[in-house]
Amino acid sequence: MDRFELIRRLQAIVGQAYVLYRPDDLTVYEQDALMVARHTPDLVVLPEGTAQVSDVVKVARQARLPITARGAGTGLSGGAIPEAGGVVVALTRMTRLLELDVASRIALVEPGMVNADLTAMLAPHGLFYAPDPGSQVASTIGGNVANNSGGPHCLAYGVTGNNVLGLEVVLADGTVTWMGGRAHDAPGYDLTGVMVGSEGTFGIVTTVAVRLMPRREAVRTLLAVYETVDAACEATSAVIAAGMVPEAMEILDGIVMRAVNKTLHVGFPEDAEAALLIEVEGLAESVPVLIERVEAICRAHGARRIQTAATAEERLNLWKGRKHAYGAMGRVGRRTMMLDVCAPRSRLAEVMRKVLEAGQRWNIGVANFFHAGDGNMHPTPFFDFDDTSPEYARVIGLTEDIMRACIEAGGTITGEHGIGLEKREYLGWMFNERDIAAMKTVKQVFDPDGVLNPDKVFPTGRPVHGDPRAKAAAAAGQA
Ligand SMILES: Cc1cc2nc3c(=O)[nH]c(=O)nc-3n(C[C@H](O)[C@H](O)[C@H](O)COP(=O)(O)OP(=O)(O)OC[C@H]3O[C@@H](n4cnc5c(N)ncnc54)[C@H](O)[C@@H]3O)c2cc1C
Repeated sequence: MDRFELIRRLQAIVGQAYVLYRPDDLTVYEQDALMVARHTPDLVVLPEGTAQVSDVVKVARQARLPITARGAGTGLSGGAIPEAGGVVVALTRMTRLLELDVASRIALVEPGMVNADLTAMLAPHGLFYAPDPGSQVASTIGGNVANNSGGPHCLAYGVTGNNVLGLEVVLADGTVTWMGGRAHDAPGYDLTGVMVGSEGTFGIVTTVAVRLMPRREAVRTLLAVYETVDAACEATSAVIAAGMVPEAMEILDGIVMRAVNKTLHVGFPEDAEAALLIEVEGLAESVPVLIERVEAICRAHGARRIQTAATAEERLNLWKGRKHAYGAMGRVGRRTMMLDVCAPRSRLAEVMRKVLEAGQRWNIGVANFFHAGDGNMHPTPFFDFDDTSPEYARVIGLTEDIMRACIEAGGTITGEHGIGLEKREYLGWMFNERDIAAMKTVKQVFDPDGVLNPDKVFPTGRPVHGDPRAKAAAAAGQA
């Protein structure tokens, strides 16, 4: 099928305005928030419902083109980058709340719905959708499902996978099917569990059945201020070891807090090197008791001050500061690279020491703001050179040292951002060949011809993206 015919057939499905093919329009879809890798798609299609997604997939298959699903493009692992070109299916027009069952606390939503919009729609019913990634004002439920995204409140409520009951999916041949459903324990294989976190490599999610939570009677939020990140990490481990699971436990270091203050004026302490943001929810009678115990542990582990939000506005202000932490990093360095790694909670302080030592060894600043309660760290190197500079090899060396430190401590190389193309060459650091072969067998079942988001997740043998050695080699090849 020639390009003209392909465009004509896709326009017949979704309408003329929703097939993008001009270079200026395609540029928007060549990147996500990873920022060091990009590739222009051949075409972008914006369907408006499941039937259109199915028809688009069928036409793309006839044209023998790869297909990459895309939500808001806030992914930090390059998952939505159409590395093999082909058709990008952008789900951002599919934003409807299809059904809300308040009594059963279930909603059916389209994949392009923005995470924060869903919770805003649920507020009048006293409900909320728990997974709250830092990107929730922009990222989509479909993208959250594909990356099994987490967020501050996932400590108590679980990540996306724990809050999704069923999925409608368009498979690689255009077939539409449901996995799971509305029941909390669907019979048969847990295909929903297989699909969540599959990063667009098994199918395109077109409807999501989500589990909703009731708003709690009372909520208290505090900021415990520390002299070192180390001390804040020790306090986190101590709260968890005491058998308590607050709704959220987030650490911000001094670099981040000062950067946020410059941007948003939220009043984070200017002279501290770390703070632990803790939220406790529950019954009106139990919350004061819990917060008192948390405060006592924080003080016993070196908190020099504890600031408790006295009003809803003060609480929102603290969360605003936390959720804008990554954006504020633009104040610190011209370039940043937010890593996503995990350490066992009991070894958080030890791994954090290794992260900071690695930063010194490679002579690159590292800022930290992360979901401390579940050991999901986001060390963020900041620097002033481009990813095309030979200096960038130091950033890669640093990130590799951090991943090694996490693995040695019994952690992982990714917590919530996915493998995408950023981490795929490191998959072998965590899994042996048989493990990876087993994963590839599953991919084969869903997508035997390898057309859905090709080359993602599995090692390719090609150098890591952003590696200046790879870019130099590519440039030499083009010369
Ligand atoms: C400032 C900032 C803060 C962040 N904070 C967090 C955080 O706290 N927790 C966290 O987990 N992540 C966080 N992220 C990462 C990112 O926002 C999440 O991974 C998010 O879920 C991506 O959603 P998206 O709609 O932007 O998806 P995209 O980036 O567009 O796509 C992500 C992946 O999902 C696939 N995909 C998208 N839609 C579909 C679909 N309908 N069907 C099948 N596959 C699909 C794509 O192919 C790709 O592989 C943050 C990012 C930023 C920029």
